Amino acid sequence: MTNSNPESPVTPSQVASTPNNFLGDIIAEDVRTKKYGDAQIQTRFPPEPNGYLHIGHAKAICIDFGLADQFGGKTNLRFDDTNPEKEEQEYVDSIMADVRWLGFEWDRLCYASDYFGQLYEWALQLIKAGKAYVDDLTADEIRQHRGTLTEPGKDSPYRDRSVEENLDLFTRMKAGEFPDGTRVLRAKIDMASPNLNMRDPVMYRILHASHQRTGDEWCIYPMYDYAHGQSDSLERVTHSMCTLEFTDHQPIYRWYIEQLGIFPTQQIEFDRLNITYTMLSKRKLLQLVKENRVSGWDDPRMPTLRGIRRRGFTPEAIRTFVAAAGVSRTNGVTDIEMLEHFQRDDLNHRARRAMAVLHPLKLVIDNYPEGQEEFVEVANNPEDPSAGTRQVPFSREVYIEHDDFREVPPPKYYRLSPGKEVRLRNAYFVTAQSVVKDAEGNVVEVHCTYDPLSRGGNSPDGRKVKSTMHWVSAAHAISAEIRLYGNLFAKADPYDLEEGQDVLDNLNPNSVEILLGAKLEPSLANAKLEDRFQFERVGYFCLDPDSAEGKLVFNRTLALKDSWAKEQKKAGA
Ligand code: ATP
Ligand code: MG
Repeated sequence: MTNSNPESPVTPSQVASTPNNFLGDIIAEDVRTKKYGDAQIQTRFPPEPNGYLHIGHAKAICIDFGLADQFGGKTNLRFDDTNPEKEEQEYVDSIMADVRWLGFEWDRLCYASDYFGQLYEWALQLIKAGKAYVDDLTADEIRQHRGTLTEPGKDSPYRDRSVEENLDLFTRMKAGEFPDGTRVLRAKIDMASPNLNMRDPVMYRILHASHQRTGDEWCIYPMYDYAHGQSDSLERVTHSMCTLEFTDHQPIYRWYIEQLGIFPTQQIEFDRLNITYTMLSKRKLLQLVKENRVSGWDDPRMPTLRGIRRRGFTPEAIRTFVAAAGVSRTNGVTDIEMLEHFQRDDLNHRARRAMAVLHPLKLVIDNYPEGQEEFVEVANNPEDPSAGTRQVPFSREVYIEHDDFREVPPPKYYRLSPGKEVRLRNAYFVTAQSVVKDAEGNVVEVHCTYDPLSRGGNSPDGRKVKSTMHWVSAAHAISAEIRLYGNLFAKADPYDLEEGQDVLDNLNPNSVEILLGAKLEPSLANAKLEDRFQFERVGYFCLDPDSAEGKLVFNRTLALKDSWAKEQKKAGA
């Protein structure tokens, strides 16, 4: 177990030891009763390499790695690569990098495809025991024979083939004698079982497709239910944690292990992470990428680990959030504001402060000597004195936010307006005197005077100002493109659909706003990709990889306002 950041507020094993973690309770009990003798606790994280990991996977990763770590055990990373048509090396590589970015290191790197040979041998064993048969029904016919929740299924006419015939046909399936879809191997269980998964589930299908690891060695591939439990068992996984949709698969998971008499891994289900305004499905996220609805898997609006990382989210905050969201035996929905709260909290402690003006308006200080410049000392992070201070240049012309000046101030407007005095943060008190307008009557420049005795932003005589504003010296400013992000979906529940609608119809048409003319303090020219900033009064930002020599691009990770914390306070939590 490694932790990417030694100053991380939460260690991975703390994630697993959150209160009400029934998974931890089960493992603790199994350790106490020596259910697995002296064997160590072994878990696995088993992604299918058919897309990039998303924040839902982060929950599974924290659980799989966190619990093993808590009990001194180990975790394998296993690729569930049994669908060659949908899987790619690109996804394998990104998944490994993302697990590491989240702060975890696996024990063994495994692939279900490593077990194809063993799985095939076991299939022969089941056929010989009269527990599996080759079925010539088409996929459609199999579906029709399966029955429904209220009606039992019907036996396939091929169900009673002899062991010899089944062995012959199955070995010929493997040898490539039959076209795709013409035959399958099925487990022979019970077509009247109340659990549809037990109605003679398909174990193998014919698929003449090249596999990214085994090439053309195989033209039959095992189904998930047949491959997963046996892979767990082969790795001597003690606790196989998965999401609730697999609860109905637990009987078939156990059936194979019992029939084969192999290591008895136990499957335990927990709730999927669902987040408001967010869609967590690799398949649908792939559609967003393919249809160019987003710029790629790492678009900062995507809930992929790549996306939220580019947006400026940190592994520490994601782990803290997952721990706080907890685990349960029923599915629920977590507010996106909660994720944002933990990210803000993390950034508040670590983000270096800087001044940036997103919508610049020039402020000219008429009584400040022309050509003069000076430097004011500014704390890099008031939350963290060890972050030190920096010198920020100040001169006769500065940029302030357009919103921070009103020629005719509305009631309770305490920022700059003609005749009003405000503080330029860490610099001076200034009083607005006059404005310059363009032909359309828009204010394009504000003229003011400053009080030289207020240097450092300190009141010279105890007089108070109601507002403190950020600014950037015009002569020293650097320009940048700023990207502001909103929710990718317009509805809290993206799956709340009208008749005939697709979930992508609920995309938020205004999920990104691009500002081209922002003015930044010069120290930001040295920003690096993993740096985190709080642009004072504006929000948390990070450099985007689209930046290049002479072209800076910053992403807004989050605005400053924390609505979740406020709600919690109101609710008395
Ligand atoms: P998707 O539908 O996004 O492809 P999946 O469940 O098919 O998800 P897998 O690659 O099979 O993706 O998932 C690997 C592991 O991550 C599984 O154990 C799965 O249960 C878990 N997982 C996937 N999505 C979530 C989620 N939203 N919350 C918690 N765990 C999840
Ligand atoms: Mg899956």
